Amino acid sequence: MSKFKTQNPGNQPVWVNTNNCKACDICVSVCPSGVLGMHYDASSTLGAIISVEHPEACIGCMECELSCPDFAIYVADKKDYKFAKLTDDSKKRQAEVIANNYMSLSEKRS
Ligand code: SF4
Ligand code: SF4
Repeated sequence: MSKFKTQNPGNQPVWVNTNNCKACDICVSVCPSGVLGMHYDASSTLGAIISVEHPEACIGCMECELSCPDFAIYVADKKDYKFAKLTDDSKKRQAEVIANNYMSLSEKRS
């Protein structure tokens, strides 16, 4: 566990310290399962913030945590959480998020 890792807020597969997030989109781009997406956020200087949109689809691959340059996103230990399996629906959603400029599918394409 990274020394930067914050406490799991409660039986979550993946969680975010939004104070550290620089809205770089990297975690969204590497997630294979369409779990993550950016939301527009007028209060953020960067205009967007990361959001865990589909925690139920997280496969626990750790790609987001390992890729985040700002230690802002964390994944539960496999012994603590029963992760999902990668499905065709999850892969399709991930492709749609990428096509939506990494924005959550609930956000309009910019
Ligand atoms: S990789 Fe880290 S800093 Fe970049 S959007 Fe994801 S959580 Fe935020
Ligand atoms: S652990 Fe893997 S599947 Fe889960 S949010 Fe991170 S990159 Fe996506």
